Amino acid sequence: MKRMVNSFDPTKGAADLTPDEAALLARRQRTLGSLAPVFYEHPVHIVRGEGAHLFAADGTDYLDCYNNVAVVGHANPHVREAVADQLTRQDTHTRYLQDEVVDYAERLLATFPDKLDHVAFTNSGSESNDLALRMARTFTGHRGVVVTGNAYHGITSLVSSVSPSFGTGLPLAPFLVAVPVDDILKKPDGTFDDHAVAAAARAELVARFEAAFAKLHDAGYGVSAVLLDQIFSSDGVLPGATGWVADVADAVHQAGGLLIADEVQSGFARTGERFWGFRRHRADADIVTMGKPMGNGIPTGAVVYKHEIGDTFAACTRYFNTFGGNPVSMRAASAVLDEIESRELQRHARELGDHIAAEIARLLADAPRFGGIRHAGLFIGIDILAADDSRTPDPYAAARIIAALRDRRVLISGSAADGSSLKLRPPLVFTRSDADRLLTELAAIAPLFG
Ligand code: PMP
Repeated sequence: MKRMVNSFDPTKGAADLTPDEAALLARRQRTLGSLAPVFYEHPVHIVRGEGAHLFAADGTDYLDCYNNVAVVGHANPHVREAVADQLTRQDTHTRYLQDEVVDYAERLLATFPDKLDHVAFTNSGSESNDLALRMARTFTGHRGVVVTGNAYHGITSLVSSVSPSFGTGLPLAPFLVAVPVDDILKKPDGTFDDHAVAAAARAELVARFEAAFAKLHDAGYGVSAVLLDQIFSSDGVLPGATGWVADVADAVHQAGGLLIADEVQSGFARTGERFWGFRRHRADADIVTMGKPMGNGIPTGAVVYKHEIGDTFAACTRYFNTFGGNPVSMRAASAVLDEIESRELQRHARELGDHIAAEIARLLADAPRFGGIRHAGLFIGIDILAADDSRTPDPYAAARIIAALRDRRVLISGSAADGSSLKLRPPLVFTRSDADRLLTELAAIAPLFG
């Protein structure tokens, strides 16, 4: 079993907990057991939130630099009112004519290119990817799936079997090939730009995917889909070099398969440049999956697809999802779109993300452990190295930085297969003064980068 990056290790015990926190942790362990990891060596007990802040019962104010669920802010009043209003009307399953699901479907589809013209609703990113893979299988008649080296796509039986980040404690699918991309997409100094990754690197990436397709053909599986997180969140955050995903899309189409863009992390304006990650890459995605931020904490997910793919699926089997598209989730999701649009959060994510990344790069420029920073909008990855000249990734140093920031009430986490990258991904309503606080606290722990 591979432990989740930055999870509390029950065999070591928790540091500095109050008696109340220790009691709650013990009750959690007794009931939820080892299936429910909790973040940080010193777990955080929160009782309420507002904007990008989470608060403990005693009023301690944590700056949330990690939460991509509460995309329009914790306890967002507009979302809260929409949900409360809907709960006073009706909330049942989805086999009646209801306005809410159709209203939202129209709004959501308007954010996509014309070819992506239909949507099915789910309750989570995992369910979305599961449905997408089944659709790809019926449409192509093939089973083979290709993902990146440390991909995470969710928890259903099918989706976990194509998520190498779980490790191999349970066998991965025999029809899976995982293609490493981080070695190409991280330049030696940990940064990269569009030009550097052009031509040769793009060709090398495509060649690796083509080799994977050949392997699946030879094994008799054929190629049903390439499934790609559009910001490569668990591979170390690899947002910068746009365009290569478009090349992989062309290659998978030639091999008879589809491109499934997993937008659970990269969607809903997170990257600043575009509303959807696959559009940054100019990729011709056939199916797009989403979840997490879509309802700002109210569970909901979706699969957007080219209609011919859905028609083939419906001719083979059927899809009904009791809660997917329920009116309360749809009102929450609509309120999230209202907030992103009216507060111009896409532009804000781009501007503030650029500012934070530039300031961090400046702050850490000469720090020996600083291996480079990559970002798109408010999604930031920072590589942490050993303090010598070897440029070896150092997950222990990364863990110490995450813990030190937590102790200074700033919540971030880690990424990459070995946990050696820091991951920052705050709610999109993160403010300039939130950014100042983050930068001040990073400066305060700068010796840990030395
Ligand atoms: N895809 C990606 C890229 C994810 O990061 C996640 C969740 N971390 C999922 C899918 C699964 O989403 P959920 O936890 O809502 O099922």
